[in-house]
Amino acid sequence: MPTSLVTGGAGFLGSHICDHLLERGHRVICVDNLETGSLNNIKHIREPGFRFEMLDITDHYDIDEPVDFVYHMASPASPIDYARLPLHTLKVGAYGTHNTLGLAKKHRARFLIASTSEVYGDPLVHPQPESYWGNVNPIGPRGVYDEAKRYAEALTMAYLRQQGVDTCIARIFNTYGPRMRPNDGRAVPTFLRQALTGQPVTVFGDGSQTRSFCYVQDLIRGLVALNESEVHDPVNIGNPNEMSLLEMAELVIEITESRSELVFEPLPVDDPQVRQPDITRAKQLLGWEPEVALREGLVETVEHYTKVLASPAAR
Ligand code: NAD
Repeated sequence: MPTSLVTGGAGFLGSHICDHLLERGHRVICVDNLETGSLNNIKHIREPGFRFEMLDITDHYDIDEPVDFVYHMASPASPIDYARLPLHTLKVGAYGTHNTLGLAKKHRARFLIASTSEVYGDPLVHPQPESYWGNVNPIGPRGVYDEAKRYAEALTMAYLRQQGVDTCIARIFNTYGPRMRPNDGRAVPTFLRQALTGQPVTVFGDGSQTRSFCYVQDLIRGLVALNESEVHDPVNIGNPNEMSLLEMAELVIEITESRSELVFEPLPVDDPQVRQPDITRAKQLLGWEPEVALREGLVETVEHYTKVLASPAAR
């Protein structure tokens, strides 16, 4: 039975990875400091092969049993989180990734880092292939996240080349689904919370900026396929189905049958104008592509949010 270490395992994506790996018969060690995650995301897990360790991965840490796979997911991930935690975000990308790569080396484990489409910055190439080096503002408010992830990618490649660690890099594009925090400031949870509570739905700018939204189950399948492959180069994992944020806001209002009105607010600094993954590499190397249609994924997510918003204790 393989053992997987999931850093950030009590977060949105990390907790879904824990569920998926347990279903596949893995033992799972979930480490998290609960900075942006929650025990609510893992409290349903009853499998004896699951273990939770509350720790901060920016401090040196050790795992006292053999590990076969590492899913390194820990990092503040939403703009309001990394604006609140700029130094922590840089430290997680640097020390946290260094410590976790060291563990992968010690255990001879396969290592996956959750990188991001933000390494492309405000892209001048569309859609974005992995070969694009990006257009990032290193000193803007988003720089702490974008550069932490770019540094973490460089560190990962150095451990591969110099230390012989078996690594891979997932460049994750916008993902949505149950367990995103209603107040985490990202577009889909914000629109859903506002639409379901009858508040105005806030769209930044004129809403023409685009995103490509991937349902969480598709994303997790892609991450596991990548970590179980022999690929070392970065791979985009996301859904190429691109839409404007205005279209997404309107769709959320329609699906939730909300009476909320749309309001427009100023664009945040350095907000990327377009986002669309080129997933040719994922298709060719992993045989992976998304399967869940947007409406289907949104309906599942709405069901979850309706429950969460009705029970503040569960948030
Ligand atoms: P999340 O905030 O829900 O999860 C991150 C988890 O990491 C949280 O549980 C948090 O408590 C934990 N964490 C943060 N700092 C830590 C530390 N020092 N020690 C231990 N645990 C720590 O975010 P998410 O959306 O699940 O994102 C997970 C990963 O995927 C992140 O690395 C993020 O950058 C990446 N990613 C996510 C998306 C997306 O759309 N969700 C897109 C691109 C990349």
